[in-house]
Amino acid sequence: MAIHEKSLIEPDHILEHEKLVVDGVDVSGHWNTMILPRTLTDYDDDFEKVIQRYPGGENVHRCWQCGSCTNSCTMYALNVDFNPRYWIYLTRLGLKDEIIKDKDIIWQCVSCNKCTNICPKDVRPEGVMKALAHWLEEEGHTEKKPSTIFDEEFWEQVERTGRIEDSHVLMHFLRKTRQPLMQEWLVDFSKRMLRHLPFAHLFRMGWNFLFRPRTRGWGRTGQVLREWVREQKEAAHG
Ligand code: SF4
Ligand code: SF4
Repeated sequence: MAIHEKSLIEPDHILEHEKLVVDGVDVSGHWNTMILPRTLTDYDDDFEKVIQRYPGGENVHRCWQCGSCTNSCTMYALNVDFNPRYWIYLTRLGLKDEIIKDKDIIWQCVSCNKCTNICPKDVRPEGVMKALAHWLEEEGHTEKKPSTIFDEEFWEQVERTGRIEDSHVLMHFLRKTRQPLMQEWLVDFSKRMLRHLPFAHLFRMGWNFLFRPRTRGWGRTGQVLREWVREQKEAAHG
């Protein structure tokens, strides 16, 4: 019988005779496969707790390894190395180094949530994939994604002024992701705004862009928000 997920076993741990007959019975190939045991010492007992602290990772401990998430996964259908069940298993065992080996594909989850809908234990595998991707990013194993850079810029503006100035967010985002400020779609978008928005609105936008006003009374609110965010980060990182 073929071994499912054979690709996950180190090749030199698989023993298999192409031709083998035992007591007159042909047990060639898969029928005589043996897997050598291995001893793991490089696990992190607390890793599951670390992932549980990220949004989406809270229920990772509930997994009973039924495999429904992987069977239903959109990405698994395209690439059998994309295996949420396996990464959840590694998370529970604390095998960080094994997860790091797949750092270049974990982020490819398309958030279709088929896994979450089918999971019998409410693990929310999609959330676990996001939690792992965030952990990889925060630990410096992968580069910051544009979405993270955008989130940071968005938060920075809220924290500072209590409001969002779209053009500033966009400008800083493009700079930080090393994209040109003058892009065809952006020029086209600006022309449409100039054509269709009332003058008073355009004037206000220009004013806000230049002077970056703060929401009234933001000082104290901003301070409370900053403290709350700091507490959350400290709690998340132990
Ligand atoms: S469907 Fe749920 S319980 Fe089953 S392996 Fe996936 S996460 Fe675990
Ligand atoms: S949300 Fe991600 S992990 Fe879940 S089925 Fe879709 S692609 Fe797969």
